Amino acid sequence: MSLLIDVHSHLDHPLLINKIDEIIQRAENAGLKHIITNGINPETNRICLELSKKYSIVKCGMGVYPRDALKKEAETGEAKLKVGDFNIDEEIEFIKKNRNNLVAISEVGLDFVNGESRQQIEDFGKMIWLAEELRKPIVVHSRKAELKCIEMLESSKNKNIVMHCFSGKKSLVKRIAGNGWLLTIPTVVVRSQQFQDIAKNVPISQLFCETDSPYLSPIKEQKNEPAFVAESYSMIAKLKGMDINEVANNIYMNWQRVFE
Ligand SMILES: [Zn+2]
Repeated sequence: MSLLIDVHSHLDHPLLINKIDEIIQRAENAGLKHIITNGINPETNRICLELSKKYSIVKCGMGVYPRDALKKEAETGEAKLKVGDFNIDEEIEFIKKNRNNLVAISEVGLDFVNGESRQQIEDFGKMIWLAEELRKPIVVHSRKAELKCIEMLESSKNKNIVMHCFSGKKSLVKRIAGNGWLLTIPTVVVRSQQFQDIAKNVPISQLFCETDSPYLSPIKEQKNEPAFVAESYSMIAKLKGMDINEVANNIYMNWQRVFE
């Protein structure tokens, strides 16, 4: 298989960055053409930019991820992430300066796992506006805040919206598809009814595949990496009764329409 795309990964992550040469090599061997690595704060935005300059297969997304949620994850997560405070408007200036090196505003959104947050809503509003101003697609995280994310995005003129790992209700999946936006099928689809339903019900012209590396591995004992994105393609082929190359070609056309 060739022409595969991993539309969402965190190659800067401490669990991946030390083995990055091997990981890129395995991705190329698996037929990947593009991998988006996305920043979530100033530090990771800069690492992702460097990675995209070093490896032609790697494309850069930059954004500001829900800040309080990230802090919580940094405290409790298995890999120690460094998350300092920063000024979002300064970071927006940095992103604007690098507009020609970016394929998307990503990863941004809302995460209300620990309750609603005004700062998150304010930050996300700025990211929606930034994507619109730069005319870039926006890749959205919406955990426990699915409806609020959709409502905020519906007020944007941007039509290139990708809902990443969407875990909301079926009615909201329909609403997203009805809006003409895209949804991702993460590799964890191998054991997730939610994503199997999305793969089955959403038209192929509105799907992307992703790993969310190093998270959501299809293989329980192993950290996720872009090479595993083939699992999502196989699952879509199986659920839609399509040839896997046809799936890859269609999703590649989605890439050209949304990201190029
Ligand atoms: Zn992510």
